[in-house]
Amino acid sequence: MRLLLVEDEPDLGAAIKQVLSHEAYVVDWFLDGTQAWNYLENAWTEYSMAIIDWMLPGLSGLELCKRLRREGSPLPVLMLTAKDRLEEKIIGLDGGADDYLVKPFKMLELLARLRALRRRAPQYQLRQLQVGNLTLDYGTHEVSREHLKGEREIISLTAKEFQLLEYFMKHPDQIVTRDQLMNQLWEIGTEPVSNVVAAQIRLLRRKLGEDNNNSAIETIYGVGYRFKANRL
Ligand code: CA
Repeated sequence: MRLLLVEDEPDLGAAIKQVLSHEAYVVDWFLDGTQAWNYLENAWTEYSMAIIDWMLPGLSGLELCKRLRREGSPLPVLMLTAKDRLEEKIIGLDGGADDYLVKPFKMLELLARLRALRRRAPQYQLRQLQVGNLTLDYGTHEVSREHLKGEREIISLTAKEFQLLEYFMKHPDQIVTRDQLMNQLWEIGTEPVSNVVAAQIRLLRRKLGEDNNNSAIETIYGVGYRFKANRL
C-alpha cells in the first residue's frame, strides 16, 4: 500500500516513515507543501492514504487538502498538527481532512488512526485478496495457501515480498513491467538498481516454494512478469 507523507520536521518524518515501512507501507515523503503538490497533482491516484502536516513550507497542509478535494480526489487524509483548538480542527475537517492527529502523538495511535481510515474508505473495505489457492489477509498481514486436503499453510513474507505478491494478486494473468513494479513498490528517488526487482521476485518465488523456471510468476523476457493464477 502506497502512502504519501508530507512533514517538514526531519526527525518526525523519518520516524513515521520508518514505522510505516515496518507495517508494509511504501512511503513517499515530502518536506515541502509546494513540492508535494507539484508531484501529487497528477499522481494522487497512486496513493492509498496521505498523512499531511498542517504547517509546512510552501503550501500549507490545509491548502494541499483543499486542492486535492477540488480535483475530486477521495484520497483519505490524516492531518497532523500542533493546533488543537476546536475551531482549527473544524477548519481542517471542513478543508477535506478525514481525521486529525495532534502533536505530539504516539506512533501506536497514528497506526490505529490509519487502520480506521482504511476501514472507512470504501475502496479499502477489502479484507482479503484471494487468487487460486493463495489468500492474502489485510487484517493479519498474512499470506496462506490452501492445500488439497483443506489445510492452510502460512507463508511468512517480508514487507516487500508481501507488497509484491499483493500487486501480482491484484493483476493476475496480466503482463506487469519492471517499471510498473518499481513505481508501485519502491519509493520515489530509490536508486534504480537494475536487478532489485528481479532479486525480490527470486526471493518471493522461493517463499512460494517455486524455482525460477517453474513458477506462477512467469518472466516475460525484456518486458516484465506475469502472475499465472492457474499455475498456483
Ligand atoms: Ca510542520
